[in-house]
Amino acid sequence: HGKRHRRGGVSVFDTNHSTQMQQDATIEIALRKADLERELSIMFQPIVDVTTGETVAFEALARWKSTHLGEVMPDQFIRIAERGGLINRLTVILLGKALAAAEEWPEDIHLSFNLSAHDLCSPDVMLQIIKLVSEANIDPRRIDLEITETALLHDINQVREAIRMLKFLGCSVSLDDFGTGYSSLSHIHALPFTKIKIDRSFVQAMNTNPASYKIIKSLLALSRDMGIDCVIEGVETEDEMRLLRQLGGNIVQGYYFSAPIHQDMIGAYLGACGLEPVRHHVLMS
Ligand code: C2E
Ligand code: MG
Ligand code: MG
Ligand code: MG
Repeated sequence: HGKRHRRGGVSVFDTNHSTQMQQDATIEIALRKADLERELSIMFQPIVDVTTGETVAFEALARWKSTHLGEVMPDQFIRIAERGGLINRLTVILLGKALAAAEEWPEDIHLSFNLSAHDLCSPDVMLQIIKLVSEANIDPRRIDLEITETALLHDINQVREAIRMLKFLGCSVSLDDFGTGYSSLSHIHALPFTKIKIDRSFVQAMNTNPASYKIIKSLLALSRDMGIDCVIEGVETEDEMRLLRQLGGNIVQGYYFSAPIHQDMIGAYLGACGLEPVRHHVLMS
């Protein structure tokens, strides 16, 4: 809540802050008015096992084409939906769409879906998630639920219970954007995650900052020792891929392989994989 401080009649209201606040308010109003069933859609980004060259999963990434505002990216509208108490509705709509899409995929391909920590703390939404997953025509063991680390400042006991429930259902549960939160290590210590996703900031800095390289190396060793899976996010270049291979980072996701693609392109994408198992730039755009 922006308070106006006046000094000698001149407003010292932070204009950048105010612009951001106005933008957020505009987005929140548009979200409340939106026909979300129609305006929300999903893109799917491949997650690749580089030891075989095969795509093992697709991560569902929300897209919102607002009638009033045009295309809005999830980094913006998810945060605003969470703060405005709208995220639960979005989650249910998006999960329904993602599951419907994944039902069309080959049976060995997994679906990764981002949950908000707010979802885990709402018993009502948890029930709806469980209902959607168990009624979908897809083995829950093919579903991976990702929870962003920076959002985990919630009731840790409630989050733990929710993760247990999702695992009991058969899903795996990932700690997303690992390394960006306040207490990454205590999160994997206190919560029963089955996977971590190393944040792309470490990959981006790998060439210029030797510490990043060593951190990725240590995290790979840590996850191996703990017996949990590890995905490396945001791999963009050949150089990065070469370094990661040396480190034994086998499960990767990033523009180097493919940007998020439309559901209609998944068949073509998977077909192209069989022919050319290393890169699929043809389908990027
Ligand atoms: P995330 O879950 O960490 O998803 C990865 C983000 O990194 C995606 O951004 C993806 O497009 C982007 N990305 C993938 N590869 C690369 C790369 O090589 N380089 C770069 N620079 N970026 C790459 P996107 O789609 O804009 O989503 C942003 C965030 O919004 C997601 O981060 C996730 O936290 C959240 N989000 C997206 N969809 C949903 C959703 O359905 N529900 C919830 N709760 N959150 C979502
Ligand atoms: Mg994610
Ligand atoms: Mg991430
Ligand atoms: Mg993220």
